[in-house]
Order: sequence, then structure tokens, then C-alpha cells
Amino acid sequence: TLALVLFTQDLRLHDNPVLHAAATGADQVLPVFVLDPAVKRAGFAAPNRLAFLGDCLADLDDSLRAVGSRLVVRQGPLVSTVAHLLAESGADSVHLAGGVSGFARRREGALRDRFGRRLTVHQASVTALPPGAVTPAGRDHYAVFTPYLRAWLDHGHRPVLPAPRALRTPDGVSGIAVPRVQPTSPLLPTGGESTGRKLWRGWDVDQYEEVHDDLAADATSRLSPYLHFGCLSATEVVDTALRRGTPGAQAFVRQLGWRDFHHQVLAARPRAARTDYRPRADHWHQDGQEAEAWRAGRTGFPVVDAAMRQLAQEGWMHNRARLIAASFFAKSLYHDWRIGAAHFLSLLVDGDVANNQLNWQWMAGTGNDTRPNRVLNPLIQADRFDPSGNYVRRWVPELREITGAAVHRPWKLAQPPAAYPAPIIPPEDYAARLRAGRGLDE
Ligand code: FAD
Repeated sequence: TLALVLFTQDLRLHDNPVLHAAATGADQVLPVFVLDPAVKRAGFAAPNRLAFLGDCLADLDDSLRAVGSRLVVRQGPLVSTVAHLLAESGADSVHLAGGVSGFARRREGALRDRFGRRLTVHQASVTALPPGAVTPAGRDHYAVFTPYLRAWLDHGHRPVLPAPRALRTPDGVSGIAVPRVQPTSPLLPTGGESTGRKLWRGWDVDQYEEVHDDLAADATSRLSPYLHFGCLSATEVVDTALRRGTPGAQAFVRQLGWRDFHHQVLAARPRAARTDYRPRADHWHQDGQEAEAWRAGRTGFPVVDAAMRQLAQEGWMHNRARLIAASFFAKSLYHDWRIGAAHFLSLLVDGDVANNQLNWQWMAGTGNDTRPNRVLNPLIQADRFDPSGNYVRRWVPELREITGAAVHRPWKLAQPPAAYPAPIIPPEDYAARLRAGRGLDE
């Protein structure tokens, strides 16, 4: 028997339930990745993620070859491409990791319509726990994080699976070379399971609790793109951290709980990717110039601009910076969160429908935040999370000559740097001017 393994967001050999089930149930496996033009049409194909994906596929092919197999990459509409491959290879089953986005659901539906019982969708591959594994009594998902996290930790996760030592793949089915795409961001990380595992092993989780919000320390794991593409298994990362058990490891596991939380919300409410989870009555402010200043990192608020320029340069942003930049856009400028979220998705190498859209909703106050009026004042945030000013100086070269925390308020200098813009909204008396109304300023 021959099983076709359709890789999607699980580009790894370690702890891969899809590959494991296929290899256990059949004599041979055919590992396949399909570059489907529908992904581009749906607007998900940002150059940064395509470049990272290219690394992931090349690395997956290397790892598969090391155990006697290889990756067959094909380009074309998913269902007909898989149908061709089944006919060509004689494979009798298709294995796939279940996704939570509307796109992933439609993809699964189309595959099921065509291949019926020959298709197996494995749910425990993308998140640490399958999206529907824990639910409150009488409801299909948890809307609030803390009770979800409690239930999620109590539930426990499946055992971590070993990487296969040997696989058998038939000769004669060929694919295309892995296409290479030029990224938008010059400092994009390298993709792939090998790089992801090295990064993970070399990172010190124990200091996470103290330093994860320190912008200049840049001491978070940076595992998000590897988790997004499934180069690393969320289950395995959670399992390892729980065994470590230090306060740092526990704080880190909590963040992975957030990842699963947003995935279970999106699985239950696919429309939450675009539609307000809890609608606001207000109308968003529209101003193309303000939105463009925000995108370009030229708002005149140094910590916001540093965040936006980090995004442009690295295709990644520190979580605290994402919170500040998103709050500024949705709460201070009071622009529609969907416009900000779309800009993030056009650049983020970890850009993810569940995590991006639902974090934006949370910050915009349209999502499941229990304090929807929370407003992050960029000046208070800068003083708290970049007290040295080093994060701003790293990303905003026009301000590099300003020493210390004065860098957060260049308008107060006798001679503000000429190359740096003046604030696009009045910076002082900030809370009183919030367009979002009576916000809780923090
Ligand atoms: P660490 O701090 O080391 O955390 C470990 C892992 O936990 C991360 O890799 C990530 O998988 C998960 N995680 C951490 N924080 C969150 C969170 N708030 N929500 C969900 N998962 C979390 N994350 C994405 O993966 N893709 C996105 O598109 C994305 N968009 C975001 C947009 C906004 C407006 C905000 C506020 C947050 C967004 N996040 C997103 C969540 C978070 O900012 C990133 O996961 C994190 O910064 C990645 O860096 P890290 O791997 O060093 O995280």
C-alpha cells in the first residue's frame, strides 16, 4: 500500500502525526507539497512567507532524503493535482493536517468531496491541542482566555512522536524544483525544521518571564514562523517546556496557550478573521495619510515607528511592539483594525490568520479582550518597555544621536532632528485626545 502525505502547515519530520500515521498504516509513503494558486488568490502569499516557505521545503526534502524518501513539489490547483498524483503513483490514501481558517476548511471540504474515505484529516498537528479538545459546558469554544488556559493545561496533550528513521517512497513520481522567491524584508530569518530546532535548543527559556516584554533585550524565542509553518510542533515545544517547569518555561507555555486559544476561536467562528467578534457601535476614522505614515514608520512617535520599521526590515516584530503599533493604529488613530491587520499580514513571516486577526481584534476592542477600552499610550509604553531607548535607536537611525530615554520625545529637544517627522497627533495630554473615547490609558 502507498499513502500520499499532503504537507501543509506541518513541514517537519519530528512529532508529525500525519506522517507518522501514514508511515505506520502503509508500506510506502509519497510526501507531497502542492503550490496552489488559490493561496495567492486568497491574498496569503506574501513574499516574506513564500521566501521562508522555500527554505522550509528545501530543508524538508533534505531531511526526507536522509531517511530514504524525498519531497515531491507540484504546482497547480490542489484537488486536481492530488488526483493526478494518485493516478500516477497508485497511492490509495491521502493524509492531511486539519487547519482552522476558512481557507483550510474549504480545502478540506473540496478534498473530501473528491476523495471521500480515502482522505484522513489529522487534527492534532498544527496546535498543541486540537481546536475542539476543550470546550465549556454547552458551548463550542472558550471566548475568554483564563478559563481556557486552565482547561487546556488540565487536559494534557498527546504523546510526542519520534521522527521516522526510515521511509520507503516509490521511484518514478517527480516534482518541480522548489521555487525561490525574493523576500520583501532584507533581514528575514531562514526557514526550515533544522534551523527551527537549532534556534529552539539554543534559546534560554528560563529567563523568559523577566525579559519577554523588554523591547531592547529582544529575548523572546523568535519561534513564531517555525510554529506557523509547522517546522516545529507546538505539542513538542509545550511538552518540553512543561517538563522543564521553571517560572520562565511556565510563562512561555502560557503564550503557546494563547496560540491554541486563538486557533480554537477561529475554528469555531471562521468569520472572526474579518468580522468583529464583539461589534463596536462606532465608526472608524479614515485618513489615508495617517495610515500611510503608520505603515512607513513615520508617525513621529518613536516607539511606534521603531516597531513598524522592525516589521519592514525583519518581517517580524516583538510582541510588545505589535501591541503598541496595533493599539496606536486602532485606538489612538482609531482606524479600522482590518487595514492594520492586512498590512501586518503583507509582511509578517509568521503571519497567521488566527493569531494576527484575533490579536488585532483583541487590541482593537472588537475581540475577546475582557477590557475592550484598554488603550496603550505609546509614551508610557516606551518608558516601561524601552527605558534605555535602545530599541528605538536600533530601528530609527534619524534618532541615533539622542542618548537615553529622551529619544522617546524628540519634540521636546531644543533642536529636534530635522529628518524625523513631527508627531501626527498631539503627543502630550494624550489620554484626553483619544479618539476611541474614554479609554483606560496604560
Ligand atoms: P514568544 O514570546 O517566544 O512566544 C512563543 C510562542 O507563543 C510564539 O512563537 C507564538 O507562537 C506564541 N505566542 C506568543 N504570544 C502570542 C499571542 N499573543 N497570540 C498568539 N500566539 C502567541 N503571532 C503569530 O504567530 N502570527 C501573527 O500573525 C501574529 N500577529 C500578531 C498581531 C498582533 C497585533 C499582536 C499583538 C500579536 C500577534 N502575534 C502573532 C502574537 C505574538 O506577537 C507573536 O507570536 C510573537 O511576537 C512571536 O515572537 P516569539 O516567537 O519570539 O514569541
